[in-house]
Amino acid sequence: MPTRLLIATSNPHKVQEIAEILGSSDVQIEGLDGCEGVTMPEETGSTFLENARIKARSVAEQTGRTALADDSGICIDALAGEPGVRSNRFLGEQATAEERNNAILSLLAGRPPEERGARFVCAACIAFPSGETVEALETCSGVIARRPSGGGGFGYDPIFYFPEYNCTLAEVSSELKNNVSHRGKAVRRVVQLLKERSRGC
Ligand code: IMP
Repeated sequence: MPTRLLIATSNPHKVQEIAEILGSSDVQIEGLDGCEGVTMPEETGSTFLENARIKARSVAEQTGRTALADDSGICIDALAGEPGVRSNRFLGEQATAEERNNAILSLLAGRPPEERGARFVCAACIAFPSGETVEALETCSGVIARRPSGGGGFGYDPIFYFPEYNCTLAEVSSELKNNVSHRGKAVRRVVQLLKERSRGC
């Protein structure tokens, strides 16, 4: 029987992305559409794992179902790891991705490649109605490009140069991105941990 997982997010794009990541597994993904009255909690944690745990536990508790949440962002070496957990609030919640990317390029202006290191980070948490969890944290390392490039992806992808592909993550298909991305790796890993747990490993 396939494992059923409720995705703890109000963002339909994220449900779609996680469904693509788990496409070839026997996991059945569902969004919150059919769960009337379920609300997402505030992300009050100071780490990616804390925020993923808060979201997964809240939805598992409200629905009595097993829930998967993730929390992600970009950490830039030259900015002491910022914007990190504040990635979706950098420059304020109303700022566009283009404004955020241009601001980062200005902050790093003149820096050589060796000072432009960055990584995407993703925490994934599966919570059971009991409050127990399984968790994974994964990263995807790259370099902040000199200018934005590519029309795919979202968020910081156009300025995130990925050396192994010799282009930004906005220039590759979602399939190629999911193979190497922080979210792809964290979601696959946490589902593997869930399966090991149910086999009693
Ligand atoms: P959240 O996990 O939905 O809270 O995402 C936090 C923010 O981090 C997003 O709004 C994006 O700005 C950024 N982010 C996370 N993952 C990615 C990615 O794969 N590409 C580009 N930006 C990302």
